Amino acid sequence: MKKRIIAGNWKLYIEEVDAAKKLASTLKRARSKTPNIDLIVLPSATLLGTVAGALKGSNIAVGAQAIQPFQSGAYTGYVSPAAVKEVGATWALVGHSERRMQTIDGVPAAGESDEQVAAQVRAAHEAGLKVMLCIGEVERDPGGAHFSVIERQLSSALSPLAKTNIKLAIAYEPVWAIGKTSADAMKPADLEEMVIFIRRTLTELFDRAAAAKIPILYGGSVDASNAHELLTQGGVVGFLVGRASTDSKSCIELLKVCQG
Ligand code: PEP
Repeated sequence: MKKRIIAGNWKLYIEEVDAAKKLASTLKRARSKTPNIDLIVLPSATLLGTVAGALKGSNIAVGAQAIQPFQSGAYTGYVSPAAVKEVGATWALVGHSERRMQTIDGVPAAGESDEQVAAQVRAAHEAGLKVMLCIGEVERDPGGAHFSVIERQLSSALSPLAKTNIKLAIAYEPVWAIGKTSADAMKPADLEEMVIFIRRTLTELFDRAAAAKIPILYGGSVDASNAHELLTQGGVVGFLVGRASTDSKSCIELLKVCQG
């Protein structure tokens, strides 16, 4: 059976050390029952070292939710990708829609542009981190304009690295499906169509063999109730999961479904 990838984006749902350690040890215990899943957890920045320490030896990878492009020098307030790696992260999530947004809840937010995302992808790659690049349209367009959004996001972030041996996964997350209920997630047939489009675009950016190896994940209101059909009919190898990854019961249920 094809190996699945599940990445848990803890966002700011988990902010306390004790809560992070508790969830990490639950996942560690569940690990022996989920050998078919490559599991990645993405805690918030200040919890990276704690979670990486708690998961040591478990074969569960840790990643940063965001990465910054500067390596060292006069960059007040930044954290370098190398420092993120040093505390135990092996993955960097780049380009999440909540980082691309200009405002969140009416408050000015990071508003990261395609150019910033491209610089972050490059910096993470240069620091030796694996990159999970998030892409996704804000809304669907009956005329198909969402496909051009995806093409633009992929080529702006990845063209500069087309000739490198970048370790990469794509998390396709339509913004309209994030943070809703499982009924609002993308329909498997629509997902499959988009996955074919993403794979074709990757093939144009990289060579065919390299593109074929890049895992494509889906994110947006996934839980145990919709995971099976999205996995079996949507053409993805796994999920980037927000809310459902932060509650131990729903996370274990989701892992069970994905383990098969
Ligand atoms: C996300 O924001 O990466 C995400 C997939 O969130 P949720 O699962 O809560 O929709």
